[in-house]
Amino acid sequence: MHLTTIEISKQVLLNNIQLIRAAIPGTGKICFPVKANAYGHGLIKIAQITQDYVDYFGVSCLNEGITLKKNGITKPILVFGAFSAELISGFIKHQLEITISSELKAKQIIQYCHQHNTSVKIHLKVDTGMNRVGVRPDTAIKLIKFIGENNKYLEFVGIYSHLVNSEIANDELTLQQLQTFKQVVDFAKQYNPNLISHIANSGAICNYPQSYLDMVRPGIMTYGYLPTTTCTNTNLHKITPCLSLKSKIIYAKVVKQNIGVSYHHTYITSQDTKIVTIAIGYGDGYRRSLSNQGYVLLHGKKHPICGNICMDMLMVDIGATSKGKVGDEVILIGKQQDQEITLQELAQMCNTITYELLTGFSARVPRHYI
Ligand SMILES: *Cc1c(COP(=O)(O)O)cnc(C)c1O
Repeated sequence: MHLTTIEISKQVLLNNIQLIRAAIPGTGKICFPVKANAYGHGLIKIAQITQDYVDYFGVSCLNEGITLKKNGITKPILVFGAFSAELISGFIKHQLEITISSELKAKQIIQYCHQHNTSVKIHLKVDTGMNRVGVRPDTAIKLIKFIGENNKYLEFVGIYSHLVNSEIANDELTLQQLQTFKQVVDFAKQYNPNLISHIANSGAICNYPQSYLDMVRPGIMTYGYLPTTTCTNTNLHKITPCLSLKSKIIYAKVVKQNIGVSYHHTYITSQDTKIVTIAIGYGDGYRRSLSNQGYVLLHGKKHPICGNICMDMLMVDIGATSKGKVGDEVILIGKQQDQEITLQELAQMCNTITYELLTGFSARVPRHYI
């Protein structure tokens, strides 16, 4: 038994998917991004739990895709990330769908497929404003023609792009990106009318119904976090986090006033009090920057983290009268009685985003699916 656990509610996760389905009218598909260990929730289990409810999975690299295929995932898997020539055989062997973003990459694949008398499903990535991976819209036209000429090897199944500012409603750049993308899609559909066009991430699902197209890619939202406080799609207001982070008191001691706690004594007790040690630290992914800032829930009440967070432990000042004792459960993220600590508030304290905290929970923290 581990003292620190991440608990994931299957029902909440599936309910979030249902809410997203209801929020995208019509027959639009859902591609569920499970990259980065399913945003820290556990790649294999999250995919297994959700595969009957989504249409596609999105991963960032070949290895994540292979892991899914080896663990019974039969839904199509799109690898968002770039590949190098020596990885092409892996994509084909495991029937993973490839992102193409240049003619050079297309040629590498054609060469391989020609030599091995095979073909592969591809999605074309168009750069409409991120200025990272992707073919520019004007060059895309030429590349689409090239793909069309080589459809014996390149099965042109999808076309996509990624938005810069989607969590902001009525954003000019976003509207521009959507317009640019749609022009390229219209051209590409001449080559395959069934082409799956997709651009909407969670932010766009909140604010841009015109972005839903043939498929949406809700990542953070499916795990239960809206990336914006101004989500105009009201169907989504019931989205709920499926993850909670729990640990236990492993030591309790009564200390006098004016006593320093933890490394460098950055916390000095202001009165006689009880200090408890909790079995979680930055080695688990609980950020050290929450030292003297964060709090935990014990017996339904908030108590402050005191002193510097250590690699494997942190201390909490629970006050002289608290009944907290060794073995008691504490909640670091989630609900206890009528109190809640949200991931968003921790992210704000750490000056980062929910995504980074989620992907930072380390492998030694067991994930339980309830
Ligand atoms: C991660 C990712 C998403 C999901 O983004 P969210 O903001 O989590 O919804 C969508 N599309 C691509 C290409 C991604 O890499």
